[in-house]
Amino acid sequence: MHLCVIGAGVVGLTTALELQREFRNANVTILADRFEQDTCSDVAAGLFRPGTSFSGPTEEITRKWISDAYLYWDEIRRTADASEAGVAQLSAYIFSSTDPSIVRNRYIEKILPVYRAVTEQELTLCPGDWKYGSFYTTVLTECRLFQPWATKKFLRNGGRIITQKVESFQQVAGQYDVVVNCTGMGAKKLCTDYKLVPIRGQVIKVKAPWVKTAFYADYDTYIIPGFQGVTLGGCRNYDSYNTEVCKHDSAAIRERCEALLPSLKGAPVIREAVGLRPHRDPVRVEPELLDLVRGRVKVVHNYGHGGYGVTTSPGTAIYATGLVTDMLKSNSKL
Ligand SMILES: Cc1cc2nc3c(=O)[nH]c(=O)nc-3n(C[C@H](O)[C@H](O)[C@H](O)COP(=O)(O)OP(=O)(O)OC[C@H]3O[C@@H](n4cnc5c(N)ncnc54)[C@H](O)[C@@H]3O)c2cc1C
Repeated sequence: MHLCVIGAGVVGLTTALELQREFRNANVTILADRFEQDTCSDVAAGLFRPGTSFSGPTEEITRKWISDAYLYWDEIRRTADASEAGVAQLSAYIFSSTDPSIVRNRYIEKILPVYRAVTEQELTLCPGDWKYGSFYTTVLTECRLFQPWATKKFLRNGGRIITQKVESFQQVAGQYDVVVNCTGMGAKKLCTDYKLVPIRGQVIKVKAPWVKTAFYADYDTYIIPGFQGVTLGGCRNYDSYNTEVCKHDSAAIRERCEALLPSLKGAPVIREAVGLRPHRDPVRVEPELLDLVRGRVKVVHNYGHGGYGVTTSPGTAIYATGLVTDMLKSNSKL
């Protein structure tokens, strides 16, 4: 059996590993034009925290993706591989001065080992007029470590990686039993998908090893310690294709983060980065049968995770693998 995954971001890699786990004798190939540090996944801080607007086709399926994903990351977190894979446990505060619903999260309150309202005393931990807050313990996956680790694992399992831009599904017709499309923003062109919109994000990675807890606050302000520095963010520019670092965004991010955690003042910059979050409502994880000139192609789409692709990718990978199983069984009739 020959299976193909297009895309080598966190969604493509978790999907390729899941296919290898489910179909032990299959030949799995990854086709992608960008890898590791050239992907959107590399920009993410990687905190497990889905937004409350994140949605799959149904509430039940969305919740299953999220709980499967948490179990996946938490399992790696417990192994000896955790540090090489870039997976660790991390606790976080989220504060708001405007709205109590901002500090709640219906998806993860019952999944995480700790998710509680903060005490009055904790509301004074950071400067600011904080009225509402939560504290929770979650997992962090740093893609700068996870992607190389997952790639190594995939190759060790007998997988094949080809550097190639897929301009159309015609290119893969007749070569694979099923093709899984994990192209993130690339799906906009590949599938002519007008529902897929970039949400531009910018971050500053600084050296501040004394920061051991993550902090979220109003106006997209976040401070997330990782394996290779602390990520300061951020911004959300809807429908922006600008991949350049903007000095005004940098200044605003620094100002907001330093106001929240004054010890960050003067922390040296490691790098600045921009990524286009592939936002789609709902996230597209579904089968499609394409009748093309060069033949019929069975495709399972798995893209559009927006700002929550690191968090949720293992969950959608498991679901997409189930759809691959269904497609292999079916006689081309969906
Ligand atoms: C600033 C910022 C902070 C973030 N923080 C978090 C966070 O804390 N937690 C979280 O869960 N998420 C976070 N995210 C979101 C997360 O980064 C994305 O959801 C995730 O990276 C999407 O992964 P992906 O694999 O779909 O896309 P990508 O990582 O972009 O990978 C797409 C892959 O598809 C390939 N591809 C595309 N088109 C083609 C084609 N035509 N032919 C061949 N290959 C193709 C590319 O080369 C690449 O390999 C953040 C994003 C940003 C920008």
